[in-house]
Amino acid sequence: MTRRNPPVVSLLLPLLAVATTSLAQDFDFFYFVLQWPGSYCDTAKSCCYPTSGKPAADFGIHGLWPNYNDGSYPSNCDPNNPYDASKVRDLLSTMRQKWPTLACPSSDGTQFWTHEWEKHGTCSESVLDQHGYFQAALKLKKQVDVLRILQDAGIQPDGGDYSLKSVVSAISDAIGYTPWIECNNDEAGNSQLYQVYLCIDASAAKLIECPVLPRKRCGSEIEFPSF
Ligand code: 5GP
Ligand code: 5GP
Repeated sequence: MTRRNPPVVSLLLPLLAVATTSLAQDFDFFYFVLQWPGSYCDTAKSCCYPTSGKPAADFGIHGLWPNYNDGSYPSNCDPNNPYDASKVRDLLSTMRQKWPTLACPSSDGTQFWTHEWEKHGTCSESVLDQHGYFQAALKLKKQVDVLRILQDAGIQPDGGDYSLKSVVSAISDAIGYTPWIECNNDEAGNSQLYQVYLCIDASAAKLIECPVLPRKRCGSEIEFPSF
């Protein structure tokens, strides 16, 4: 005698529906965003060094931002998972060096990391827990030395002007993927290299070509201020 098994099917269907729903709420890729401290600090708004002192003259991490392929992005996805420094205790000294805060008033970075985790990190919880999120960003920072790449191409943080094209080519030639460059303006109104966006696959493991680019803000010649 053959027996059909409707209870199994009726158990599986809701599970499948839940899986599809949570996939639909997920994200497609990450922007890994680095900031040039000289360009954060020389604007009309100015900056404050972290309590640990002046950061190194290097690109610092701004964030690792989950994004959708259509350019939109999720934010503040889980109010029940606040930033908890005890979960990243082993990473804190590296975070102070590689992910320094420049906002005023001076602080140790906790507010910046809290903001980045709660706004962006909680939206990639399905892939990275809090420790994994900060660790992934630090690993990417170690993997791609944007300052070294630019300097090797003769592009120095010396207050000089460089073509946007030369900045983009130096980085794409070195890493094999096109970066996105965001500019801001110094106090005198000059367009300058502020942030570098690299695209990372949804597992936070490897660089990819950007599926979509953020809006454009650079002139064709941009300044690379000192810090
Ligand atoms: P702004 O308006 O200064 O460019 O961006 C403000 C903040 O919005 C950023 O620091 C970041 O938290 C978020 N943001 C801006 N553009 C994007 C984007 O294209 N993708 C993601 N995931 N976040 C963004
Ligand atoms: P986002 O622009 O990522 O949404 O927000 C950045 C937030 O972190 C702002 O509230 C900003 O004041 C704070 N913040 C603290 N330190 C920094 C820093 O070094 N760079 C940037 N871009 N934001 C910082």
